[in-house]
Amino acid sequence: MIQETFPMTVGGDEVLNERMLLTKVESGLAMRGADAVRFLVVHCSATRCDCPYTPEQMLRDHKARGFRTVGYHFYIRRNGSLTQHRRLLEVGAHARGFNRCSIGICYEGGLDHWGNPADTRTPQQKQRLRELLQTLHRIFPDAMAVGHRDLPGVKKDCPCFDVQGW
Ligand SMILES: [Zn+2]
Repeated sequence: MIQETFPMTVGGDEVLNERMLLTKVESGLAMRGADAVRFLVVHCSATRCDCPYTPEQMLRDHKARGFRTVGYHFYIRRNGSLTQHRRLLEVGAHARGFNRCSIGICYEGGLDHWGNPADTRTPQQKQRLRELLQTLHRIFPDAMAVGHRDLPGVKKDCPCFDVQGW
C-alpha cells in the first residue's frame, strides 16, 4: 500500500507534468505513455455500507484472485481517506479489456444495508473523488471519467451511480 497526498507523487517524485510520468516505466507493466490513458474508471468495492472494508482486506482479496497487488490505482474509504496502490502508468487489474488504457478508482461501499446496489458514497467520499478526478484530468486531459458499468460488455451495476451525469 502506498500512502500519498497531493500533489501526487509517483515513485517518490512529484508529478508536475506528463514528461515526468513518461520516465516512470516499469517493463511490461506500464502503459506506453500518458496519452494512453483514455478512461478514468470508477468502481465500488461492492461491499455493504455498514461493513468496513480496509485496503488490507482488499489486498488480501485481490491477491487471492491472483493479482500481484490491489487491482485499482486508488481507493477511497468512507471517511474520504485516499490510498494509492499502483503507479499512475502501471497497468491495473480492474476493467477487462481496458486495463492498458485506464486508471482504476474504487470507493468503499456500493451496497446498502440489505446488500442491494446503491450509491452509498459519503459526502467525504464524493469530495475526495471529485478532487481526485480533477487532479487526474489535469494529468490526463484526454481521459474521460466513466463508471465501470459504462464500459462495453459489463453486466454489473458498479459503481452504482451515474459517473458521467455526476
Ligand atoms: Zn467495477
